[in-house]
Amino acid sequence: MDSFSLDSKIEIEDNIIIKKFKNSFIIVVKNTPKKIVFTPDEYLIYNELRKGLTLREAMVHLYRTNQGQLHEDHCVKLTENFLEKIVDNYFLKSQKPHQEERIEKILKKIHINITSDCNIRCKHCYMSAGVVEKKFLDIAKIISFVESINISRVEREIVISGGEPLLVNDLPLLINKLGRLGFSTALFTNGTLMTEGFISSCYKNISSVQVSLEAATEYSFDSIRGKGSFKKLISGIEIIKSFNLHLILAFTLCKTTFNDLAENILHLLNSIDYENISIRINSELDKEGNATKNPDIFFTDSIKAHESGAMIINMILEKGFQIQKNTEQNTLFNNCGIGASINIYPDGSVHPCSEAISELSLDITHSPESILNKFDEINTETSIHRIEKCSKCEIRYICGAGCRVKNMKENGSFIIPQCNEHKVFENIYRDALL
Ligand code: SF4
Ligand code: SF4
Repeated sequence: MDSFSLDSKIEIEDNIIIKKFKNSFIIVVKNTPKKIVFTPDEYLIYNELRKGLTLREAMVHLYRTNQGQLHEDHCVKLTENFLEKIVDNYFLKSQKPHQEERIEKILKKIHINITSDCNIRCKHCYMSAGVVEKKFLDIAKIISFVESINISRVEREIVISGGEPLLVNDLPLLINKLGRLGFSTALFTNGTLMTEGFISSCYKNISSVQVSLEAATEYSFDSIRGKGSFKKLISGIEIIKSFNLHLILAFTLCKTTFNDLAENILHLLNSIDYENISIRINSELDKEGNATKNPDIFFTDSIKAHESGAMIINMILEKGFQIQKNTEQNTLFNNCGIGASINIYPDGSVHPCSEAISELSLDITHSPESILNKFDEINTETSIHRIEKCSKCEIRYICGAGCRVKNMKENGSFIIPQCNEHKVFENIYRDALL
C-alpha cells in the first residue's frame, strides 16, 4: 500500500451503476469508459471507502465481516490487491479519462489481405481461404497505392496477411519495396511455408512474424490444420528464430483442442525457447466460412471460453512470458474502430475496417487521399454523438453503440444499434477475465 496512507480517505469513483453477475459485482462509472469487476470482498472494501471511511476502517470491517474465516494477513493482502486493481482500472477520481484524437489526426493502419488462397484448410478459417475463389492482389497496384499515400497520415508498420501470404511469389519484392518507402511489415502467416530463402531475402524489412495456433502438440494441432502442419510450423518457427525476428504466437481457443493447449502450452513455449516472443490469446471464433461447417470447435458457453482463456493466460504470465493485449483503457472513444484503418482485400476492394461490407467498399485504384478522407467522413458520420439514443446513454463509452457493420447488416443502418445492456455488462465480465 505504498502510495496510500492507511488513515487517509481515498477519493474513489462513486457516480456509478452496479450489476451483479455470477458471484461478482460489475461497476461502471456513468458517462466515462471506467469499469471494474469486484469479488464480494473487494466490493465490501469499495463500499466502505465510498462511504468516506479510511482504508484502515475498511480493512477492519472486512476482517469483522469475515470473522473466523479470514486471517488478518489475508485481509491486508486482499486490500493491497484491491488498491492495485482500482489504480489499474482508473477508479480513482484523480485518474481523468482522456479524449480520443480527432479521426483526421489518428494514424491509420494499413492492412493488406494479399490473397484468398491458402495451402491448408483450417477448420475455423472464417474466410474459407483456399476454398473460395483464389484471388491475388496485384503487387504493382499495392506499391503504387502506398507510393502515393501521404505518409504523415498512416502508421509506419503495414500488416500483410492472407489467406497465406507466403503463396505470393513476389512477397519479398513487395516487403522490400515497402521498406524503401519507409514502412516495416508485420507478417501474419500460418508458418508452414516459411523458408530460409524467403526470410533471408526480406527480413530487414520485417518487424514481426505472427503465426497462429490452436493446440500445442502435433496430433491436436493437425486435427484443426491438417496432417503434417505442426512439424512444418515448428520448422518455420526455427527459421524465424534464426533471424532473431520478433515472433508472435497467436493462440485461438477451440473447444476440441483446448485441453491439449492447457496441458501442453508451457512445454511448447519452453521447447521453442526464444526470448523475442510474445503471445496473443483469442477466445472468440467467428462463425463464418469453414467454421460454420465445424460446430464442434465452438465453446457452447462464451463465458466458459473466456474463463478457459484466463486460466491459460495466468499460467503463462506466472512463468514470465509476455501477453499482448489490444485494448486501450480510460479513453473516451467516439466510435468503434471504423475508419481508423485501411483494409485492402485480394479483389482490390478497400474497406474502413476488417469487416468488409459492400456499402463502404472503395477500390485500390482510387487515390489514397480520397480513401482516407472518405473513411474519416464515415467515422464522423457514424460517431456515437450522431446516434440520438446513445449520445445520452450513461454507458455509451463502454458499449460504444455496437459494431457499425453489424448494425448495417442487421438493422439496415450503421447508426441503428442493437441495444442490449445485459450484453454490455456480460462483456465487461468476460473482458475482465482475460
Ligand atoms: S446501444 Fe444501447 S447500451 Fe449501447 S450506447 Fe446505445 S443506448 Fe447505450
Ligand atoms: S464496424 Fe465492427 S468490425 Fe468494424 S471496426 Fe467497428 S466494431 Fe470493428
